[in-house]
Amino acid sequence: MRVVLLGTAGGPALRPGRSSPAAAVIVDDVPYLVDCGYGVGRQLVDAKIGVATLRAIFITHHHSDHNADLGNLLVLAWASGLRTPVDAYGPPLVTDLVELALRYHAYDIAIRIPDEGRPDPRTLFAAHEIAAPGLVYQDERVRVEALLVPHPPVVPAYAFKFTSRDRVVVFSGDTAYSEALADFARGADMLIHEVVLESALDRLLKLVPNATRLREHIVAGHTEAVDVGRIAALADVKHLVLSHFVPSYDPTLTDADWSDPVRLHYSGTLTLGKDLLALDA
Ligand SMILES: [Zn+2]
Ligand SMILES: [Zn+2]
Repeated sequence: MRVVLLGTAGGPALRPGRSSPAAAVIVDDVPYLVDCGYGVGRQLVDAKIGVATLRAIFITHHHSDHNADLGNLLVLAWASGLRTPVDAYGPPLVTDLVELALRYHAYDIAIRIPDEGRPDPRTLFAAHEIAAPGLVYQDERVRVEALLVPHPPVVPAYAFKFTSRDRVVVFSGDTAYSEALADFARGADMLIHEVVLESALDRLLKLVPNATRLREHIVAGHTEAVDVGRIAALADVKHLVLSHFVPSYDPTLTDADWSDPVRLHYSGTLTLGKDLLALDA
């Protein structure tokens, strides 16, 4: 199992440096996606992952940094040669997002089917609403389970666990500190966890007019770097990968600013995620 980080920024604001949240899990050369932030299609192409080979997509929650390009990715993968079914899993509303994407692109789709001899994409895309945690998906390569995580006010928000023949990889999704997540990730080969650096927030928030509300949201719904280390230590994961960086763009921050607080509690392998970084689980 291989994980490719496609976008490692946190939050919907478009900033330089990092692309919006998305990652690929590749099992026996078949790609599965976690989240579809803006630009995911371009990131897949730059990572040399064939968009026409996509098998399934898992959306953690419906903040726009995680779902903005779900519909675009499906339709553009079809325009790039996709001929096999893609299943999209996510909290309720995922069905609407897929249907609305087909409507948004209806004119283009109607033209290309006869003009370019493509299959009808409505026969390729299937949306599945994850109404409750537990086993979400299973095929001959991988099993995917969902856990409810606290990300107020978004309900539900899910973490996902991918289990292949010999590897376990867990994605935290967006979550506040959660010991249930540590249980869910117990002994995993890799935990990809979101991270916020509260000490750097005030510089970021100087740029926006709704700073106080935004700060409250970030602190209530996300996990401070020191607590990410606590969770990884509690879970005893072999490899912790930081992603969904908040702030996502602050050229004054060093790698040590992120890793030092994590290292207070966690001594296993630690990677600071970067866009297009590929890691063996
Ligand atoms: Zn997010
Ligand atoms: Zn979120």
